[in-house]
Amino acid sequence: MRIGVLGAGQLGRMLALAGYPLAHSFVFYDMSGSPSAGIGETLVDTAGTQVDDFLTRVDCVTYEFEHLPVNIAEQMANSKPVYPAPRALEVCQNRVLEKTLFGELGIPTPEWRLATSAESLQAAAETLGCPVVAKSVTEGYDGKGQAVLRSPEEAAAAWAHIGHDKLIVEKFVNFHREVSIIAVRSQAGELAFYPMAENAHHNGILRYSIAPAPRLSNETREEAERYIRALLNELDYVGVLTLELFETDNGLVANEMAPRVHNSGHWTMEGAYTSQFENHIRAVSGLPLGNTAARGVSCMVNIIGEHGDTAKILELPYTHLHLYDKEERAGRKLGHVNVWADSYDELVWRVRNCASFLPGAPELNCSLTKG
Ligand code: AMP
Repeated sequence: MRIGVLGAGQLGRMLALAGYPLAHSFVFYDMSGSPSAGIGETLVDTAGTQVDDFLTRVDCVTYEFEHLPVNIAEQMANSKPVYPAPRALEVCQNRVLEKTLFGELGIPTPEWRLATSAESLQAAAETLGCPVVAKSVTEGYDGKGQAVLRSPEEAAAAWAHIGHDKLIVEKFVNFHREVSIIAVRSQAGELAFYPMAENAHHNGILRYSIAPAPRLSNETREEAERYIRALLNELDYVGVLTLELFETDNGLVANEMAPRVHNSGHWTMEGAYTSQFENHIRAVSGLPLGNTAARGVSCMVNIIGEHGDTAKILELPYTHLHLYDKEERAGRKLGHVNVWADSYDELVWRVRNCASFLPGAPELNCSLTKG
């Protein structure tokens, strides 16, 4: 099958790597002008005028990136199957639509308000009670387009700093940790859930994902599965969906979802029987889903900004290195290392050892290191 992928970054690269053993081929559609998948065919169309050309080259279409015009995906859906359907894209691009849908489906979110001026931001901060997090309604990712307000008086500065005309203002959640759940739904409506991951961020960027998330209660896992099942069924979803959550004293609170494979699921490449990439490809190409169970325990360590000592990492007998063939640049995701172990104690030791070869890698700070 010829699979068309909207977006052409490292997620697309890893989708193609998972799809080749199933005899699929890949065509990437890039509107950014800087594709980096470095695999398959790529059509660069910054003006959005080559949709028809792209469609003649593919049998179905999916995404690896959600920040592209919904009308392009809708236009494509008129002539080829697009998985997941463009509504998922529309919801994920807009934090108001997303939080509204969560609310309708009974998925808890931080209490939130919409702000359309510095004054309404200040009013929202007063009503909700500080601290609050203000985020641009559209175009935000990796903590960009956001500010934390410690007092309502910071509204004018935060408004100017973010520079968008619509902000969602959320009550700051005092969470124990951040977790995510990744699930996949097939064309036949079959569902499969990956073990959840515990995610450690640094300066808004994911640095470590540990899976299965240590000391996660069955109750919490079932809660997360209930929420993501509701989303998958409501959106008549086909493919992999990710839901990012905060774990709190009062249960899970949803942060956001991504209509695609996700950085917090990279551990599945060697840490699960079937990777998130393969399962996404299986779903969009009409194949049955693969086993999502974990093999041992894993930690994904992101390589950010600088490659570090890759030769040393390759010497470690318990790591798998994945490089995205990108130039070094501050804050850029260049690759990741999947570290595998039989036990969490062994995992912590191995991750620290691996991180010592990655300049700028923050200390591993997670539930396993907090005792
Ligand atoms: P986001 O772009 O919404 O994923 O936010 C980036 C990061 O900011 C999250 O991974 C959290 O660490 C933090 N964050 C976002 N929203 C909140 C919130 N309401 N309360 C506390 N922390 C938050």
